[in-house]
Amino acid sequence: MIEQLLERYRHGRGDYNAEYLPKFDALKSTQSPIAVMISCSDTRLEPSRLFGLSRGEVFSIRNVANLVPSYSSVENPCETAAGLQFAVTKLQVPHIVVLGHSNCMGIRAMMELPESCSGDNFIDQWVRQAKPARQHQLANSDCLDGPEAQSKACEQASIRLSLCRLLSYPWIRTRVESNQLVLHGWYYNFSEGQLSCLEPDSQCFNPIT
Ligand SMILES: [Zn+2]
Repeated sequence: MIEQLLERYRHGRGDYNAEYLPKFDALKSTQSPIAVMISCSDTRLEPSRLFGLSRGEVFSIRNVANLVPSYSSVENPCETAAGLQFAVTKLQVPHIVVLGHSNCMGIRAMMELPESCSGDNFIDQWVRQAKPARQHQLANSDCLDGPEAQSKACEQASIRLSLCRLLSYPWIRTRVESNQLVLHGWYYNFSEGQLSCLEPDSQCFNPIT
């Protein structure tokens, strides 16, 4: 199956073959993306396809459940924080998007976490960062009907949490406060084929029409 990738390359799928290179001359030595997007590693959600992206347009960070860790010291390196710092301080991106999605297996793993996580389980240790989203969902569980609604509540609460955590990074907070940088929370629902955007005042996700 993996040979199919090389076969597609040989047949010129995509725009990375030599014939397209002149079109991307300007990108040889620099890049100036319009946003950094933190999305899930999930194979079903491909931001470049969802938004019809071309090369150089978006700086992409992908991890399990599209999480943003809280700011911590550089003694604890984290690829998501490094990617954010690169995009914000080196590339001066004007927007950060946290893109979540329905049926997220990473958020599902967080919802099913045991009380104590074993130290050698990387998945548990990673997704537990979103536990405050689970607590928020449980606090509002009276108005949620069924497991699908509960998952959706957790997925969306996790996006809100990540947006809050972005502000714990000093070089992000400074730029947000000086209107050089804008944060966005987006959510894609596979079942409905619908993208929704977080409205800052109401903190509700409104469908894009
Ligand atoms: Zn996911």
